[in-house]
Amino acid sequence: MTLCDKCRSNAIIYQRYSGMHLCQAHFDEDVHRKIRESLRQTQLFGRGERVAVGLSGGKDSATLLYVLKNMFSRRKDIDFVAVIIDEGQGVAQAKLISQMLKVPSVVRSMYGATGSNLKSDLLIKAAQENGADVLATGHNLDDEAQEAFLKLLQGDVAELIAGGPIPWIKPLRRVPEKETRLYAITHGLYHPKSECRPFADGWKLEVKRHLNGFESRHPGTKYSLLRSIERIHLLKEGAIDGAKPLSSDGK
Ligand SMILES: [Zn+2]
Repeated sequence: MTLCDKCRSNAIIYQRYSGMHLCQAHFDEDVHRKIRESLRQTQLFGRGERVAVGLSGGKDSATLLYVLKNMFSRRKDIDFVAVIIDEGQGVAQAKLISQMLKVPSVVRSMYGATGSNLKSDLLIKAAQENGADVLATGHNLDDEAQEAFLKLLQGDVAELIAGGPIPWIKPLRRVPEKETRLYAITHGLYHPKSECRPFADGWKLEVKRHLNGFESRHPGTKYSLLRSIERIHLLKEGAIDGAKPLSSDGK
């Protein structure tokens, strides 16, 4: 049995990008730290907020709502509403999670609607209709790195940093997909058997495959891509001098 590098308990994961073996407690601590750092970067939670959380029934959004609810349990000025987008799958599981976490939910249907940004538009609209100040979604590091890679290849860098009608945050953006899955499974939020793979077009699959290849040969590549996008944001805001870039292990 491999041991945790921090406490010598049994390890449940090896992070190639950090070189660390971690036990359940230290893995949880690491995930929470990455989420706290992403939240701090948004500069949004110094005062009360109503947060709409996009909930799909999958591992990422379940982890997001669970961690946010626990993290802000003592903040009476922060409340949550789950926005469930009905895409024909995952709705029952999403409702179950919102009930378990005692978060009110609203459901919006994709049925009959069209458009390439449909899901984002529905999420933003539902968040606004429910009086939310901010929208949070469960995009993980892999989602963010893939999106960045794809947009750069397509010459759409402006779209990567475009703002919307309300602040949209992605608190799991520093947590690799493999780790959101492990977190969700070990906290009883998700069962691998119920995994439904979302439809992805050829381009996206190709980008995902290449990125995973880079990551296995050069651990930390996904963090580098995320860092590039964060620096473009800071350049846009004129704040680059005060910027402290991410290190290769997300710290
Ligand atoms: Zn440990």
